[in-house]
Amino acid sequence: MLDAEQAMQQVAHLLLQSQSAIALTGAGISVPSGIPDFRSPGGLWSRYDIMEYATLDAFLSKPHRVWNLFRDLMDTVGNAHPNPAHEALAEAERLGIVKNVITQNIDGLHQRAGSIAVAEFHGSCGQLSCLRCRSRFPSSQFQEDLHKEVFRVPSCDCGFPLKPDIVLFGESIPQQVLTSSLEAAEQADVILVIGTSATVAPASMLPALVRQRGGSVVEMNLEETELSWRVQHQILGDVAHTLPELVRCLKQLRGSSTA
Ligand code: ZN
Repeated sequence: MLDAEQAMQQVAHLLLQSQSAIALTGAGISVPSGIPDFRSPGGLWSRYDIMEYATLDAFLSKPHRVWNLFRDLMDTVGNAHPNPAHEALAEAERLGIVKNVITQNIDGLHQRAGSIAVAEFHGSCGQLSCLRCRSRFPSSQFQEDLHKEVFRVPSCDCGFPLKPDIVLFGESIPQQVLTSSLEAAEQADVILVIGTSATVAPASMLPALVRQRGGSVVEMNLEETELSWRVQHQILGDVAHTLPELVRCLKQLRGSSTA
């Protein structure tokens, strides 16, 4: 078994030699920003019953109730800021090393940190949309309404209640996002799996695809996960430390090879 420092060096070499590295991120990358994993104790699903609050049917039948969850979520996300892990990943993109970020998060923190090629598997809280006429509005337009004493569900000009552009249970992942993510994985020679065990489909298909085509899977999680036994490389620890360290390592190696 490699020690942490050796593993870091090895992954940095791998990334420097790669033609098309991509990253798949999940809840763990936003935990250092103060957004708890929805499935953790104290996370969203410990406070809201999924079937009553997080399905499309629940929204359509009781939008006012489901908006309790949305307000809670938008508050948590609104108060969060990108952390050094988001920033390091954005830097890896600027360096031309990471070509795409595919995220299961809905917090928009990758873009706020400067990442550009971001595919959001589960949508984003940043926009509200109307399921009837398909109009879309920036969430910021309704920010003040969320905290009014008498809360009214934000509604579209057509009168229909608006819904954050997040994928609820019972909704499918936007086809275009899914297609472009699978294409990116088919072309990738390295995938960094960051802050997620990537066990839920379709996210789980991405490391599997990269592996099938001869690429390498690198796991960066706080601790071992169900994914661990299937990966070729592993850097364990807080991603807010390990990811910036990896990028430092990359820059150092690149500097020494061009010197
Ligand atoms: Zn409408």
